[in-house]
Amino acid sequence: MREPTIHNPALMVTCPRCGSVPGARCFTPRGSRLPDGRVHRDRTAAHRERNQHTA
Ligand SMILES: [Zn+2]
Repeated sequence: MREPTIHNPALMVTCPRCGSVPGARCFTPRGSRLPDGRVHRDRTAAHRERNQHTA
């Protein structure tokens, strides 16, 4: 069995761009998932911003 690997810490926040929930990959408007480890820039920014607030 292969466990799902989260490569990108930005996956731990909800994506403000596509609405993907924490732990789930981003998806395109057409409904297909982005390649493994790829997320929207907005999501990376949201994650960074959240960490700043937490720290
Ligand atoms: Zn997204």
